[in-house]
Amino acid sequence: MSTPATSHVDPLFVPIFGESIELLRKVLLTKDAQPFVVAGSGTLGWDMMVNLIERDDEVLVVNTGYFGDHFGECLEVYGAKVTHLRAPIGSRPSLEDLEQVLTGKKYKMVTVTHVDTSTGVLADIKGVAKVVKSISPETIVVVDGVCSVGSEEIRFDEWNIDVVITASQKALGVPPGLGIVVTSQHAMQIFKSRKTPVASYYSNWNKWLPIMNAYEARKPAYFATPAVQLIYALHTSLKQITAQSMDSRFEQHHQVSQKFKNAITELGLKQLAVSDEVAANGMTAIWLPDGVQVSDIVPSLAAKGVQIAGGLHKECAAKYFRIGHMGISVTEPQRGHIDKVIESLATTLKELKSKA
Ligand SMILES: *Cc1c(COP(=O)(O)O)cnc(C)c1O
Repeated sequence: MSTPATSHVDPLFVPIFGESIELLRKVLLTKDAQPFVVAGSGTLGWDMMVNLIERDDEVLVVNTGYFGDHFGECLEVYGAKVTHLRAPIGSRPSLEDLEQVLTGKKYKMVTVTHVDTSTGVLADIKGVAKVVKSISPETIVVVDGVCSVGSEEIRFDEWNIDVVITASQKALGVPPGLGIVVTSQHAMQIFKSRKTPVASYYSNWNKWLPIMNAYEARKPAYFATPAVQLIYALHTSLKQITAQSMDSRFEQHHQVSQKFKNAITELGLKQLAVSDEVAANGMTAIWLPDGVQVSDIVPSLAAKGVQIAGGLHKECAAKYFRIGHMGISVTEPQRGHIDKVIESLATTLKELKSKA
């Protein structure tokens, strides 16, 4: 990032952007979905749903925590009528519940948080898309994959997904600053046949689509300045990710997650996720043991060089903590990240218990 500024029309940069767009399709296992890469954060992807939503459209949010609540809040800003399908903390709504809700009412869009970073709960996006499409093939299936793209299995075309929203800074392993949305041709058709204008300027796909098409054709174009250095970083990361098969990347994340979760269990700790099946592979949310506070464990681990996060779910934020295990921490075991975190956590818990 500390290199001299590069122009977005620099002949060396143009193919970097163009190839990044192509590589995103490889990461998501899609042939013809349309990527949008725009300066912003993951939240910009939520805002971009303004392109698919018109006033009073019905949207169902398959909700597993904080990020479902807030995605729903965002869609309401653009006039959607949002219904939440919820489950107790640590579990996810069943496909039977989903089927029942969908049979009762027609929804323009169903959103699902693939990994809700507040709970570490993994959604069954394959199952969700299958149920939605079997009842209502037109309904747009939107996956919030901010905490899952690059760490969880996603088969965009095979699973019939319409939109995946993500960001640069989680399992894609790039500094924060890029919002990334990948959209099926089905959703692009719905976008193109909307009746009312898109009520956003910066998020408007009518502005961005020609830009994405131009760079993919290896031609510069301008609507609003792209984050040139971040796109270089994205390109580097996508090249690394696609140097191996996506299947082996998914498997590596699964194995490291199992190892990490076993270590947590051996330390006598419990996860928020109620079963293996609903537990994310890129992170773990863990209940604090009795007598230990977030304000003790976070600085104690930070002093050992390990940065973890406290809780985020509004009903229990003070009672748990979260640890990410994704990207290079998983794919480059020689860094020793995972072992170091397990070791430091064990020492910290011993220290805090002896103080209590
Ligand atoms: C981090 C996150 C977001 C928000 O992304 P920002 O880049 O912080 O705007 C949205 N959804 C999920 C599931 C996330 O983990």
